Amino acid sequence: MSTVDQTVQIDEAAFAELESSFRGQLEQPRGELICPEDAAYDQHRQIWNGSIDRRPNLIARCAGVADVIAAVRFARENEQIVAVRSGGHSYPGLCVCDGGMVIDLGQMRGIRVDPEARTARAQAGVLLGELDREAQTFGLAVPAGIVTHTGLAGLTLGGGIGWLERKYGLTIDQLLSVDVVTADGQFVRASEEENADLFWGLRGGGGNFGIVTEFEFRLNPVGPMVFAGPIVWAMEDSPKVLRFYREWIREVPDELTTIVTHRRVMPAPTVPEELHGKHVVIVGTCYAGPVEEGETVLKPLREFGSPLIDGCAPMPYTKQQAALDPSFPHDWWYYIRSCNLAELTDEVNDVLVDHGLGIASPMTVFSIFHLGGAVARVGEDETAFGGRDAGHTVNVVGITATGEGFEQEREWTRELWTALAPHHQNVYVNFLMEEGEERVRQAYGAAKYDRLKALKRKYDPENFFRLNQNIPPD
Ligand SMILES: Cc1cc2nc3c(=O)[nH]c(=O)nc-3n(C[C@H](O)[C@H](O)[C@H](O)COP(=O)(O)OP(=O)(O)OC[C@H]3O[C@@H](n4cnc5c(N)ncnc54)[C@H](O)[C@@H]3O)c2cc1C
Repeated sequence: MSTVDQTVQIDEAAFAELESSFRGQLEQPRGELICPEDAAYDQHRQIWNGSIDRRPNLIARCAGVADVIAAVRFARENEQIVAVRSGGHSYPGLCVCDGGMVIDLGQMRGIRVDPEARTARAQAGVLLGELDREAQTFGLAVPAGIVTHTGLAGLTLGGGIGWLERKYGLTIDQLLSVDVVTADGQFVRASEEENADLFWGLRGGGGNFGIVTEFEFRLNPVGPMVFAGPIVWAMEDSPKVLRFYREWIREVPDELTTIVTHRRVMPAPTVPEELHGKHVVIVGTCYAGPVEEGETVLKPLREFGSPLIDGCAPMPYTKQQAALDPSFPHDWWYYIRSCNLAELTDEVNDVLVDHGLGIASPMTVFSIFHLGGAVARVGEDETAFGGRDAGHTVNVVGITATGEGFEQEREWTRELWTALAPHHQNVYVNFLMEEGEERVRQAYGAAKYDRLKALKRKYDPENFFRLNQNIPPD
């Protein structure tokens, strides 16, 4: 028998598993210009948030840096306002414009992990789950967000919070260098050594200073197995749960990050039917250390009160990262309001429960990220990101499947946010809608905002990049 005949039948289930784990179905990227008359126009102007419906003159789908430079120069010469799109997950839809030009980096999806040096290079169109998939093959990760189809670029440029934040800090805290195309179409590299002022501004300052084409990150050991999962109580128990939680998180190690969510239970085959639609409070957990240690640390919380569900278990980190994907699919209608809070005081908790019990839509959620740990150990002035000393980031997201009932959810979202106003600290820039310059200033604080304005005058004096959480030069 020849060597080529020595095939072993491939097991169907094993094949299906390999197939589903394979990353990306992209064809070879090809630079492409899409105009309103093209058949693919509607597909490419659409973004994650279904409530956004804008019609650009031109969508430049870039395949590489040369396309990005050409697109920037074209936009300048032809006086086109520019929106920059990577993952397309901007809540207010700032990655697409009416008229003007979208520079779309969604096809630039290359990733290279160096397991020896523990670094990764990722192009701007990469989604979080794609980077996790590559890095986790070597037991490594970049701290990033909690939904796998979010774009790495927009998330990183605003800061980047998620399940590893207390252990490894913000996404920007692991950033080593960035390739950028500036407003005048120049290609520059920014790092601690080169264009250090720009590197400072890109770590939190969003899309104000140029178009990032590629990031270089430091990787850190994570998993691949972690102890993680949700613990669910009836929302009526929330004041007791949150009072216990408030004291308990004072002592927990940085390996543990938790996110508290209030919502109605979405019907899912994995959830007992009698809980469908029930108002609940959930503490989501992820322990980025040894699995047994995580189990010990989480024991008091899991034993508190009478949880309806305890989903904590050892699981692959990539599974934990994908756990919330079904709650935030493409095309639903989303409206967010956000603020940072120092502490979950009794007054705050009362507001949360009062409004939580009024949630109508089974999709609407509000989540409270626990910060501190490594986030707070980086100095406030070391990067442009504002609010490292915040206790919690709250995001209230009104959600409906279509436009039906959306106005009601928006109203509810605004009401909860307003009721929390006496407790607001600043705000995380990536959770802003289009709320005006004063809110952007609040995200950074007055002194840092002035420093960012000076940087804007240097790198983009004409405010060419202005469809973003804008920091005008003057
Ligand atoms: C479902 C969901 C979950 C989220 N979860 C988290 C989370 O866990 N943690 C967190 O920190 N944030 C989270 N966010 C917020 C997220 O960080 C922002 O929405 C971010 O802008 C998404 O990045 P993107 O590349 O998809 O954005 P896009 O919509 O493509 O871009 C948004 C803006 O970012 C800028 N930008 C994008 N790409 C570039 C680039 N290459 N160069 C220069 N500027 C650019 C532009 O100003 C653009 O308007 C979440 C958002 C969603 C919708």
